[in-house]
Amino acid sequence: MFSPLNSLLGMFSRDIGIDLGTANTLVMVRGEGIVINEPSVVAIDKRSRRVLAIGNEAKKMVGRTPANIVAIRPLRDGVISDFDITEKMLVYFIHKVHGQGHNPLPRPRVVIGIPSGVTEVEKRAVHDAAVNAGARQAFLIEEPMAAAIGAGLPVTASFGSMIVDIGGGTTEVAVISLGGIVASRSLRVAGDEMDEAIIAYARQRYNLSIGERMAEQLKHEIGSAYPLDTELTMQMRGRNLLTGLPQSIDVSSIEIREALAAPVQTIVDVIKDALDETPPELVADLMEHGIVVAGGGALLRGLAQRLERDTHIRVVVAKHPLACVARGAGLVLDDLDALAPVLASTQRAALMGSLRN
Ligand code: ADP
Ligand code: MG
Repeated sequence: MFSPLNSLLGMFSRDIGIDLGTANTLVMVRGEGIVINEPSVVAIDKRSRRVLAIGNEAKKMVGRTPANIVAIRPLRDGVISDFDITEKMLVYFIHKVHGQGHNPLPRPRVVIGIPSGVTEVEKRAVHDAAVNAGARQAFLIEEPMAAAIGAGLPVTASFGSMIVDIGGGTTEVAVISLGGIVASRSLRVAGDEMDEAIIAYARQRYNLSIGERMAEQLKHEIGSAYPLDTELTMQMRGRNLLTGLPQSIDVSSIEIREALAAPVQTIVDVIKDALDETPPELVADLMEHGIVVAGGGALLRGLAQRLERDTHIRVVVAKHPLACVARGAGLVLDDLDALAPVLASTQRAALMGSLRN
C-alpha cells in the first residue's frame, strides 16, 4: 500500500485540493490554505469560441458583454454543460497555482470536488483534464463528502453526520457514516434560484427589472429565511418596465423573505426527505450532534433557525462555509491511504491500484 516515491514527491510538491463549484472555484494548497477563490465563470467569444477571460475577470463581464461575448458558468446546474470550457477553467486554475512548464517542483497531486450529479463519463473527463494540466495524480471526491470533511465531521466514524451544502446551482444533502454516503439528495435549487426569485418579485410587485447582481446583493444584505430581530431595508435599483426609466425603491427584509419563501421551502423539504430516508440509529446520532450547513447559502440570515424549527434537530453553520469543499479536498491529500474509501467510485479503483504500485 505504501509508495516511497509518492511520499517523497508529496513532501515537495504543492499538492492541491480544488472545489469546482457551480458558482465559485476555490483552490487549497497543502500547508498554505486557500490560495484561489474566484467565480466559476468563463467569458468566450461566441464566433471563434476563443476564451477571453476566466474567473474574476470573466465575472465582471456578466450582464455587461457586447453581443458577441458570452459569460458562461459551465457547471451552473451541477452538471457539466460544456466540457471544453470546464477543462479550460480547470487548467487555468491549476496553472495559476503550479505555474506552467518551468516549475522545478514535482508535479502536484490534485483532489477535485465535483457536484454529485456529474456522470461517470464527465468524472473521467475532469480527471483527464487535471492530468493534462500537469497533475501527477488526480482524484475526485463528491462535494458533500468533501464539505463534510472540510467542516470537521467524523466521516469515517461509525456515527451518522448530516451535511447540507447550499451552493449556487445545487443543494446537496448527505448523511454520512463509516466513510460512505448513507442517504442523499441533490437538488437544483440553491443560491441562483433565490436570486431569480428576487428578480421575479421585483418585476411582479414593482414592475421593476433588476439585474442578477442587484438581486444577489439584496439576498446577501437583507435576505433571510426566518424573521429578524430587527428587520432591514435596502435600495433596489433597476429599470421601471412601464416608463423604461431607471428607478430606485426601498425594499424591506420582510419583502425579500417573502420573495425567497419558495426556494427556501424547497430546500427545507429536501432535507426532510433525506431525514425520512435515514435509518433510525443514524437519526439518533444527528439529534445528538446536529445538522451541519455549508456552502454560500449557509450564510443566508436565519437559515439555521428556520431549519431547526422545521426539522426539530439542532443546526450548526460550518465555520468557513464557502471553503469547506476545498478544505475537505485538501485534507484528503493529507491522508490518502486512510481516506481512500471516501473518494468517488471510479477514482477509488484507480487509487487502490496506484497505492499498490
Ligand atoms: P458553489 O459551491 O455552487 O460554487 P458556493 O458555495 O460558492 O456555491 O455559494 C455560492 C452561493 O452562495 C451564491 O448563490 C451566493 O449568492 C450565495 N451566498 C454567498 N454569500 C451569501 C450570503 N451572505 N447570504 C446568502 N447567500 C450567500
Ligand atoms: Mg459548493
